[in-house]
Amino acid sequence: MPIESPDLEIDWLVAGAGAAGMTGAVVAHQLGGSVLVVEKESVYGGTTAKSGGVAWIPNNHRQADVQVSDSAEEAYAYLKGLIGDSVSDARIAAYAQRASEMLVFMMQHSHVDYSALPNYMDYYEHVRGYKSGGRSMDNAPINLRRLGQDAKTLRLGHYDGLMPFNVTVEEGQRLQEMNAGAYWLGLRLLSRLLLDIPARLKRQRDNRLTLGPALVARLRLSLQDRRIPLWLDSPVQTLLQDKGRVIGALVKHEGRIQRIHARRGVLLATGGFSHNAAMRQQYQQAPIGKDWTAAAPGATGDAVNMGEQIGAALGFMECAWWSPTYAIPDGRVLALIAGKSNPGSIMVNRHGKRFANEAQPYEDLVKEQYASESRGEQAIPCYLVFDATYRQKYAVGHIKPCLLYTSDAADE
Ligand SMILES: Cc1cc2nc3c(=O)[nH]c(=O)nc-3n(C[C@H](O)[C@H](O)[C@H](O)COP(=O)(O)OP(=O)(O)OC[C@H]3O[C@@H](n4cnc5c(N)ncnc54)[C@H](O)[C@@H]3O)c2cc1C
Repeated sequence: MPIESPDLEIDWLVAGAGAAGMTGAVVAHQLGGSVLVVEKESVYGGTTAKSGGVAWIPNNHRQADVQVSDSAEEAYAYLKGLIGDSVSDARIAAYAQRASEMLVFMMQHSHVDYSALPNYMDYYEHVRGYKSGGRSMDNAPINLRRLGQDAKTLRLGHYDGLMPFNVTVEEGQRLQEMNAGAYWLGLRLLSRLLLDIPARLKRQRDNRLTLGPALVARLRLSLQDRRIPLWLDSPVQTLLQDKGRVIGALVKHEGRIQRIHARRGVLLATGGFSHNAAMRQQYQQAPIGKDWTAAAPGATGDAVNMGEQIGAALGFMECAWWSPTYAIPDGRVLALIAGKSNPGSIMVNRHGKRFANEAQPYEDLVKEQYASESRGEQAIPCYLVFDATYRQKYAVGHIKPCLLYTSDAADE
């Protein structure tokens, strides 16, 4: 492949500007290396910017604020109970013991700011080590304007026009209670939005970012502070090797292929392969395609392919982070997380029959949907049937009758 530009030398090259890549960049920089982050798309944030941004961190230091007691041993028991022997013990123990350390590190050395959610339960009550709250964590809101020019290239718009204002997980939980406190909170959030007069005059979206977009903005601000460059429209194309060791990569940037030497390493953080129809067909269960995914378009499995080219082993390719999704008329595909479990609704297959408990974890619901489909019950797609009370209480503006639900992989 012709290389028209001079080489660039740095310590670390990071491919992908989602949560994984930008977190890795902060850590590498804090440990004393020069870092370059390159992003394939013209916006940064990846699937992280479309997500709830909730991090599951057992035994975290913010649990004391919400009177939750936890331990690495309980976290290990819970993970082991769920995962079994499919992952090595050392790896499970490392997460149980050190995720909290990672959080402290990031809260000390970046703008990342998480709080523990006291009423966000672990999903599997019957598993030893379960907690009814405190491990799932919410991002603190942040004003988009703090990013200056970089505000323009943060991936946004997943929920544009669907909600009047952005809410944190905690605010969303309170609003769903539909009591006097919820109306008061809604009024406060609406007033804050309306009082942002400059933004209203320019018809801008809510500048108070929450959830995944808040996490992305906080990480981007941390890169700014550290003067870590982020190149947009710059896909990593090929890994460069010397005597079996990765020494850099070819990156397309400003129309040219640049040969980048990374003295200490290349971090591949390019997300999953939700948008690669061929890979989904190769590795996952039919029926499958890329049209049902809520993941960002950059998730085309580039790291998997580049890794495979240099002999890396693949694992868990049949797995995904599953959730039901639905398409809205403008083409956006959204994940249905809380809304699937609310009273006044059921999901049915094309014979009009329920096939699963809708209130179970979204992962398991999709697995049951597939099981039902494979029994010939025509459960993909399925339909959410709901009454007027559900629509009035839980459905925000975008929920229209006759939604089409399918399975999705936002696969990581
Ligand atoms: C609707 C929704 C809600 C979710 N909610 C949660 C949640 O609350 N909690 C949770 O833990 N998980 C959640 N998830 C899953 C979570 O969002 C993802 O697992 C996570 O964001 C993946 O982060 P990442 O940094 O690995 O990938 P991404 O955020 O996708 O970032 C990867 C980046 O790499 C870029 N890229 C791809 N190829 C290249 C290349 N060749 N060169 C350079 N750049 C490249 C992509 O364009 C992208 O910007 C949710 C997912 C969805 C879809």
